[in-house]
Amino acid sequence: MMRHILAVGAHPDDIELGCAGALAAHRSAGDDVTMLVLTGGQNGPGRTSERWDEQQQAAHVLKAELLWGGLIDCTLFPDSSLISIVEHAIRTTAADVIYVHAPDDSHQDHRAAAAATLSAGRMSSRILHYRSPSTVQFNPTVFVDVSEHLGTKLAALDCHRTQVDGSSMVDLELVMVAARYFGGMARVQHAEAFAPARFVWDLVPRPRAAGDAASTTAERPTDRAERGAERAADFAAERPADRAADRRAEQRSGAHHGAHAAPKGEPVW
Ligand SMILES: [Zn+2]
Repeated sequence: MMRHILAVGAHPDDIELGCAGALAAHRSAGDDVTMLVLTGGQNGPGRTSERWDEQQQAAHVLKAELLWGGLIDCTLFPDSSLISIVEHAIRTTAADVIYVHAPDDSHQDHRAAAAATLSAGRMSSRILHYRSPSTVQFNPTVFVDVSEHLGTKLAALDCHRTQVDGSSMVDLELVMVAARYFGGMARVQHAEAFAPARFVWDLVPRPRAAGDAASTTAERPTDRAERGAERAADFAAERPADRAADRRAEQRSGAHHGAHAAPKGEPVW
């Protein structure tokens, strides 16, 4: 049965660091994968346009759809605006499994993304927290065997060239060592590790309700691409909290940003 996977990250590269191997495993199992990147990583190394390009390339490597939250780096706060953005992504993707940052993290955006996703996913049966280089306490009890997908993870991370070259947080050697270490804990070669907020193991998956936005079980790649474009457009057009969130971000950053009705996956800051 095809599952719908949503991965939420605060910045470009966060999702790849935390769970790109699992996302690649999902794709090879026939699941569809959507990445929601909440900010443009404006405060890290690299220009925003470069980071946007890098994230697009990484999503392409992972064969994932990409949604942007359109918010500003270092300004995330887990209020109703941010929760609405994640709720909308959960609804438009009909997510069965949600991956997000671990709650105990020294980066405030990571903490906010985790808290907002827990609120937005209050009715979700499967929420898994992934580890970031800035995570503090992390006790993983769920593992995904990524032995066949570590190369894809590294290729996706390598797309984030401004970070690989300019940030000590993106260390590909450390990524490989961690995968081997977690593999040892999981009794496989390489693993990614997760701490579940909730994880219901649906041994016999329930059939989807009629009219479910993502109820197709055997769709052609072109269907998937078309639906992805529709989702991105819906996501940009319907988000109720956009304007309030953007206004707040502008106030916090002191910056002036243009129109925020982003069509089809364009960045909106
Ligand atoms: Zn981050």
